[in-house]
Amino acid sequence: MNLKTIIAISFFIALSLHSYAQLTTNETVLSEIRNEGFKKSEAMDMLSQLTDIYGQRLTGSRAYFKAAKWMSDEMKNSGLQNVHFENYCDNCRGWDVKTFKVEMVTPNYMSISAYPLAMSKSTNGVVSGEVISIESFADMSQVRQDFSGKLKGKVVLLGVEPQKKSLLDTLEFRYSEQQLKQMESKLTAEVKTTPLPELFEEWKTEDKADEDFLKFVEAEGALAVLTTQPMYLGVLHPQGTYYYRDTDLKPLPYFTIMPEHFGRLYRMTKLNTPPTIRLNLQTEFYSEPENNVNIIGEISGTDAKLKSESILLGAHFDSWHSGAGATDNGVNCVTLVEALRILKAIDYKPKRTIKIGLWGGEEQAFLGSTAYAKKHFGDLDKKPNSESKKITAYFNLDNGAGAVRGVYLQNNELARPVFKKIFEPISCISSGAITIENTLSTDHETFDYYNIPSFQFIQDELAYGTVTHHSYLDFLEYVNENDLKKNAVILAWTIYALDNMEHGIPRKHN
Ligand SMILES: [Zn+2]
Repeated sequence: MNLKTIIAISFFIALSLHSYAQLTTNETVLSEIRNEGFKKSEAMDMLSQLTDIYGQRLTGSRAYFKAAKWMSDEMKNSGLQNVHFENYCDNCRGWDVKTFKVEMVTPNYMSISAYPLAMSKSTNGVVSGEVISIESFADMSQVRQDFSGKLKGKVVLLGVEPQKKSLLDTLEFRYSEQQLKQMESKLTAEVKTTPLPELFEEWKTEDKADEDFLKFVEAEGALAVLTTQPMYLGVLHPQGTYYYRDTDLKPLPYFTIMPEHFGRLYRMTKLNTPPTIRLNLQTEFYSEPENNVNIIGEISGTDAKLKSESILLGAHFDSWHSGAGATDNGVNCVTLVEALRILKAIDYKPKRTIKIGLWGGEEQAFLGSTAYAKKHFGDLDKKPNSESKKITAYFNLDNGAGAVRGVYLQNNELARPVFKKIFEPISCISSGAITIENTLSTDHETFDYYNIPSFQFIQDELAYGTVTHHSYLDFLEYVNENDLKKNAVILAWTIYALDNMEHGIPRKHN
């Protein structure tokens, strides 16, 4: 072997050893994200502080604002820049529960598991009245005919005997691979979306469907209304009401009660033994528009050409008032902040600006995200402005606390290859299912309306649809720590991967 051959062979060996050991930048960054997100996660601590110390975050309330202040400090501590509040509503009022109690006192005693619906007025001290059943308010002229003069001093039981759903039914769900495949195989979206202005009109009517009824029973002298919003036995769902503006109706004391207790009271009225209910409710109304803030922050972009573009992340920060808003939607706010904390911790310098918006008023009518969009991208009745075109994509999280299993394309077929590329390197932590389907009822609809590529992720349901959604059981107990860590890693990776694509995601309409 001559010297030249020896040099050539050693060079070849050195080269192949080198290329064997060399990692791509993407591989290195992914391992750093995983290391930070799985080994040094701060997410569960953050969520415990948010839900255990601050708790419920009803739109308009002082509790919402206190939690928002704490969250904005967390964002600053994680290294986010330009953290600030933007007001979203000047006339969304605040409401707090001070104390309440609901009991059956005749023909024998039962403590009733109840929770007042938001915006209920106080009782006049402790009051008692006999139960009277009104099954529906769909036909108000019938209600007037049947009940005029009969409601004075009564407690109205609104609704019919709840469906019996066994407590032994399966309460937790994860998608099977087969279900995900089915979702992926859809060729077109079957769920129809409604343009925002029409949607808001529909909600205006739906949300106030009980207004005439509430006014009627109060004028007739009823003491209170008890209803139930059953999903599963044993669970209270005191969501609503939607009288959240200063000028809206203040309903008479209005409670949701546990399905079993409702069922018993209902059957007693059918057995001609109407029980007597003793109740007390003390609430407080106030108008403090300064509570109504979106929390905004960013990691500023560093690429001369791309830094004027943004990847926008969002989750609603408000909750209903009886639980602590852990799965809806504290966990997802924390996921996004943790994803950005991870990117800062590994010292990632994004090309584009990575923005985050934690919205208020989602539960009412996307109030926070709509106000943000109007302010930055123009009015709903105008063509989206040029700033909207600078948003590469909007990612929303609001499907409970379960693991991210893929993404809804929101009827944007052109986004499929982008997500394919994003999900491929993380196939060991997410199934990465991609479905053309639309998903509804949360803030991505706002940005979708502005023709910004906007997406919600497919998340395992866990006990969201059965136990926690808008219920008094929405606490940390239903958050799976591994899913939370995974989701933050998936989001951090998604942001990184998209930021490193030159062209972002194509828009639905040109
Ligand atoms: Zn939600």
